[in-house]
Amino acid sequence: MKTYYLQFKVIPTIDNEQYELAEGALAHCWILEVNPESAGTRAAFQISKFDWEITGLEILPIEVKKEHFAERDLGLEQFIKAQADGMAIVYTAWARDKKTSTGPVALKSSYKTDLQWFLKEQKIQRNRGRCLHFDAGHRCREIINAHSIQKSGLLSTISQNGHVYALSAEMSDLNNNHGRPTYKKKGINKVSTFLGFCKHHDNKLFSPIDDQYLLPTDQQVLLYAYRSIAREMFVKENVLTQLRRWVKKTDHKFMKQYLGEYKASIEFGFKNLERHKLLYDRSLKSCAFNDVRYVLFLSDEKPTIAFSGLLYPDFDFMGRLIQNLGNHKVQLELITFCSAPMTTGWGYLFSWHDSSSSICTEYMRSLATMMHEGYNVSDLLFRMVILNCENCAISPEWWETLSEKQRDEITVAGASNAQPFSPIKNTYLSEGLEGASGWQFDSVISKMD
Ligand SMILES: [Zn+2]
Repeated sequence: MKTYYLQFKVIPTIDNEQYELAEGALAHCWILEVNPESAGTRAAFQISKFDWEITGLEILPIEVKKEHFAERDLGLEQFIKAQADGMAIVYTAWARDKKTSTGPVALKSSYKTDLQWFLKEQKIQRNRGRCLHFDAGHRCREIINAHSIQKSGLLSTISQNGHVYALSAEMSDLNNNHGRPTYKKKGINKVSTFLGFCKHHDNKLFSPIDDQYLLPTDQQVLLYAYRSIAREMFVKENVLTQLRRWVKKTDHKFMKQYLGEYKASIEFGFKNLERHKLLYDRSLKSCAFNDVRYVLFLSDEKPTIAFSGLLYPDFDFMGRLIQNLGNHKVQLELITFCSAPMTTGWGYLFSWHDSSSSICTEYMRSLATMMHEGYNVSDLLFRMVILNCENCAISPEWWETLSEKQRDEITVAGASNAQPFSPIKNTYLSEGLEGASGWQFDSVISKMD
């Protein structure tokens, strides 16, 4: 990561302990980030959280090195602090009486993060099992830790001594990595699992994909999609429940507003997800497997990663905006993607319900156009999954053959999908991570009409 320096002009809010003294201040920020945009957003968030209102950006984020502060003790000290903590901010303030000038002053916030509450609440939500099967009812007694990534033919295949690499957002890992998730070795029984089905329904419903290779039949494709959707429902509902409680218990003005806006966007995504799940419920219940559409890339090789996820496509592979996720008045179309074991190797499967055909067909066509223009299909597909899917397991054997630089790049890309501070570039699917996957695809099967 790079170190960026930037400077905001700020005034204290009424909650700021400098309010009586300081009329205004300059906030000097040293931020460890991947690009200047993210550095700016993250610094602005931190400053607002610490009871300052931003009135202007004095110096745009510029990349800095240690030697830039060689003769400047304060700057050097903060530069070093940023390397350790990911961020350092100091304020030089001017006084209301125009005589005294304070500063640099330390960072204090009237907002206190209740970490214990947060972690406890997270655990409560995660352990709140419920069956998401379309026929769920009083018979769903034994909720199991169901795998959202196919286990026998895929997770087990890529594992080494029962372990794979997966993204970890555990507090200790976040602290070691400047607040970013990182790939860590985990037992496969802890990867991709969620308490979202009862034993009876899980075994019965998913047997065509758990006990058989992907052929593909329409039913199999529909089931893979359904499982991705069920996991997302489970995860997002938990986040939403926790956010609602968090907003309620917060009285800090800026944080309440920030969390409220965040909650509204999660709520919007979740409402859409519920609608999509109902469509799949209906298709599965009435055995209308023909409602599914898909594109499947086949590889004869051994899989190196295993994943299951979904996306409301915003930018397509060519960088065109095909769906505006910020418009909360429209219904979003949804695509799911996963890897699946096949008799001859494995498959990378995109699928969608016929009701999402208008956006998803355009999305897949943009992929075809990029391939036609000479972009490497393995790069396009690998990048897409790393940037959009945190539910992803990596073969240790393969991971350890990568160079440190490649592993770092994949980690930065993987962590970015959990980062509310990283603005998305429209061309995010067309550049980066070239050559990392080593994948080879031999053929494509599709059912789009
Ligand atoms: Zn059930």
